[in-house]
Amino acid sequence: MSNQNVNRNVTEDPNPESRQRTMQLLHEMIALHVSDVDCKKCGENLDCLAEQVAQGADPKTALPGIYAHLRCCPKCHEEFTALVAVLKAQQCGDC
Ligand SMILES: [Zn+2]
Repeated sequence: MSNQNVNRNVTEDPNPESRQRTMQLLHEMIALHVSDVDCKKCGENLDCLAEQVAQGADPKTALPGIYAHLRCCPKCHEEFTALVAVLKAQQCGDC
């Protein structure tokens, strides 16, 4: 029994150039966001955004610049998530 069919005709096109271009585009997008809002500016507006989000606002429309930074900065995002959690807990405690 020869069940080995080695005649694989896979048309693989690695195309590293297009991948590189995608990465470059990604970096440009991130650079744009970071230059727009840095961690300091983000920190200054973080409690403001967290307050609005805790009240049910959409961070995308409330403070899009800060939201964009949160999406590419895990450190600030973590801080933001914690802040929202605290604010939500406080809201529940009040009523
Ligand atoms: Zn940051």
